[in-house]
Amino acid sequence: MADTMLVRALKGKPKALNLCNKKLDKVPKIIGKLDCVLHLQLRGNKLNTLPMELSHLFQLQILNLGNNEFEELPEVLEYLTMLEKLHLFNNKLKTLAPKVLTNLRNLTFLNLNSNNLKTFPPEICRLSSLQHLSVDSNQLTELPVEICALLRLEEFHVANNQLTSLPLEFGFLVNLEKLYLQKNKIRELPESLGKCYKLRTVDIAANELRIFPTELSALPLKELHCEENPLLQHIPVHSVQEEEVLSLKEIGARYIMKELKDSKPTAGKDRWSYLRKAIRHYPQIKEMLAQSSKCAVCGESFLNTWLECVRFVDAREDLKLNNLSGLIPVRALLCSYRCFNSSGHDYYGVAFP
Ligand SMILES: [Zn+2]
Repeated sequence: MADTMLVRALKGKPKALNLCNKKLDKVPKIIGKLDCVLHLQLRGNKLNTLPMELSHLFQLQILNLGNNEFEELPEVLEYLTMLEKLHLFNNKLKTLAPKVLTNLRNLTFLNLNSNNLKTFPPEICRLSSLQHLSVDSNQLTELPVEICALLRLEEFHVANNQLTSLPLEFGFLVNLEKLYLQKNKIRELPESLGKCYKLRTVDIAANELRIFPTELSALPLKELHCEENPLLQHIPVHSVQEEEVLSLKEIGARYIMKELKDSKPTAGKDRWSYLRKAIRHYPQIKEMLAQSSKCAVCGESFLNTWLECVRFVDAREDLKLNNLSGLIPVRALLCSYRCFNSSGHDYYGVAFP
């Protein structure tokens, strides 16, 4: 039946071809003659391979293979380099062959919902044009750092997986506008999320989150879903903490960072410029100082010894959210108990159970 359809189609030089729900377990090889097709629908069949002849459809832009039986990415995809949209939802994919990913440079849309993926290969970063990635309802336990190299990504759906965290470099995804993480086991969002400065929608409902990253209120959020999380509650308990003893490394780092700040080249006389020159030759020191945080109270920089505090921001007044009201716990880092004990701030210590 499909053969007859294809033979008939051959005469018309169609741009689109629909072979959905035809109970196909093979695609007839004659399809290779339809090199005019831009849009091919093969959804709802019983396919687990594609013939190599499909590589003749070199102009193909949209391919829908949803609701089939694929266990791996069909090899022929590596020749379909013009492909822009690929649907593979509801198949049986366990892995993504790096070889295929490497050639899909024009792919902007990839739907892998409802498969059995446990991980992404590092080669996922080769999908450099990708704007929309959906991997809802898979078995992902972690995301490789290479996913943060998908710099054009605007929408990322990874709901209903087994994730416990996101890569620390997540903030590289500066074009991300919508992030769907509901129904995972995420305990913490990376601080770098604050760098995703276009982020408008975040859904983190039904996870294990206690607190949001420091720069949540810097994001242009319109929608935040965070129900069903053990978020910190606004129940202040008074406590005064003793001053701590810092390590020499910490004291040294704080001293250097303070001096570097006070001797910005614009400050006229460059009193400490020799310090700046001195550390220039030690990339490890630069790297270490780059990991520093800023105290929410005094504004000074510090390395490791910090206090995790919480500030409660109002969903409507501070975050300008329309879909949510009430107080949202946001992380704040403080440099010392001295700052914590000082008056005039609204940061609360976090009591870990
Ligand atoms: Zn401080």
